[in-house]
Amino acid sequence: ADVAAASHLDGGSSSALRIVWLYPDLLSTYGDRGNLLILVRRAQVRGLAVEAIEVRSDQAVPADGDIYLLGGGEDGPQALAAQRLAADGGLHRAIDRGAAVLAICAGYQLLGRSFFAKGAKYPGLELLDLDSDRGPSRAVGELVGEPDPALGLPTITGFENHGGRTHLGPGVRPLARVSAGIGNDGTTEGAWRDKIVGTYMHGPALARNPALADLVLGWATGAQLTPVDDTWPGRLRSERLGAVRTG
Ligand code: GLN
Repeated sequence: ADVAAASHLDGGSSSALRIVWLYPDLLSTYGDRGNLLILVRRAQVRGLAVEAIEVRSDQAVPADGDIYLLGGGEDGPQALAAQRLAADGGLHRAIDRGAAVLAICAGYQLLGRSFFAKGAKYPGLELLDLDSDRGPSRAVGELVGEPDPALGLPTITGFENHGGRTHLGPGVRPLARVSAGIGNDGTTEGAWRDKIVGTYMHGPALARNPALADLVLGWATGAQLTPVDDTWPGRLRSERLGAVRTG
């Protein structure tokens, strides 16, 4: 039903922007579909034709997408997703072609060199220069950060829920400096290089950070995107940022 819903978005035009949501059967614990819907919507209001493609973990990963989305997940599904993505190789080929990637939490961790799940260390996809281990406690709650100035984003606001802690190598830059919450390690949050960005902000990441959606869309299209009416996400941002500041 989802694929059918996707294919009528644009009538199947081959020049459409192809947004690939990877492994919704394993990595969709936190309403991650919302990030797909927001990217599709924000492309359409700019007049772009969009094709949304959902790829389950028993299907081959197409290498001809423009944007790839990876969601959050529990430890077991996360480890399985990493194994299947490594065996498939399609995501690596897509990134070599210059595709953009947005990865959330478990999806973010598995893009690195290594991560922990259920007490065991697993190899990641080595697409980002980072390693994840376990922290002293779960990081659960509001996450706020000041983004890397190079990205031109306003303050990021999200909700985090993870046991992992992530340590960045020199091949990536932090997405943001943490001002509330934990993120990677209490100091930095997320990571990016080229057209790949990972974050601990959950499913509503793009609902609360429309500028992050436009960053990824801009990477994928190479286009200057026209402004859209962000009154409602603006209210949501103010409400959540106010909740953190007033405690
Ligand atoms: N299983 C990972 C952790 O706990 C990721 C969790 C998530 O995606 N929220 O660190």
